[in-house]
Amino acid sequence: MKHIAVVTSGGDSPGMNAAVRAVVRTATLQDMEVTGFHRGYEGLMEDDGIPLTRYDVRNIIHRGGTFLQTARCAAFRTPEGRAIAAENLRKRGIEGLVVIGGDGSFTGAKLLSEEHNIKVMGCPGTIDNDLFGTDYTIGYQTAVDTAVEAVDKIRDTAASHNRLFFVEVMGRDAGFIALRTGIAAGAEGVLIPETPTDIHRLVRYLKTDFQKKRRSGIIIVAEGDDGGGAYDIARKVQAEFPDWETKVTVLGHIQRGGKPNAFDRILASRLGHAAVLALQSGRNLEMVGVQGSEVVYVPLEQAIKHHATISPYLLELVDALS
Ligand code: ADP
Repeated sequence: MKHIAVVTSGGDSPGMNAAVRAVVRTATLQDMEVTGFHRGYEGLMEDDGIPLTRYDVRNIIHRGGTFLQTARCAAFRTPEGRAIAAENLRKRGIEGLVVIGGDGSFTGAKLLSEEHNIKVMGCPGTIDNDLFGTDYTIGYQTAVDTAVEAVDKIRDTAASHNRLFFVEVMGRDAGFIALRTGIAAGAEGVLIPETPTDIHRLVRYLKTDFQKKRRSGIIIVAEGDDGGGAYDIARKVQAEFPDWETKVTVLGHIQRGGKPNAFDRILASRLGHAAVLALQSGRNLEMVGVQGSEVVYVPLEQAIKHHATISPYLLELVDALS
């Protein structure tokens, strides 16, 4: 393989730049050319690509976001859209593509490969950590660090005023960020989409254990929790405790931004490197991930089809330590 392309696609996550850097540097060491396309699949369809040399990826390993930018591209969901993208790749002599993104991006990559015989490898880049087949996705640990830092600050003010705070973190379908943030920030409770939220149980806990012994607290709510968002849950709890002051903070997009932490930089470097070597050795239609301390190759089909599962042990830990 002499020429590959790289895109960052879907939701951005801290560490995507480090992954692009690893892809470019590994490929150039292997005498491959690299073209970076802007704005994910949109750039492929608009033929908006630039050659990337090892010098073009200097000074980006520590930067959040993605310098290639990312996008959600509806046209790529259609066979016609993917045919345009494939033709653009072909006319540049590009035979392989590294896609850094989440499960939507991998679905698109799989179809592109199957329909047009372009070799693809996926690098898991999402703050949600919800991809099956890898212990960690690029950006997740940084997002948790950001959320924990914010919750620590909220705790200071909660304790100063006898307040119960509901802090909403990202996670429309997955509670990974909420769970780890809750453990690291010593939250009194964590509500996540993977487990049914019982408001009555929460109220019982607050009335007994909590009300007697404490005067302030933090409950972490994943945005996709089945009990509603943090505002809904706070309203329901407030109705039971008219004398308490409940407050809500929605952390929102600050969780996506910021410098990637060392863990994510190293993870992105390993996975970007592995993705290029995989393409060069003829692998196709796989995601590179980590399991334990090993880099692994997971068929895209499985990464897309299955969901990463929450550790029951971590759920018990929240309860045990709250
Ligand atoms: P993520 O990769 O973070 O899960 P999205 O779900 O938004 O983000 O997907 C990113 C892009 O991947 C979409 O904008 C679209 O271009 C492409 N994509 C997503 N789902 C499909 C699909 N079912 N078929 C083809 N392309 C898809």
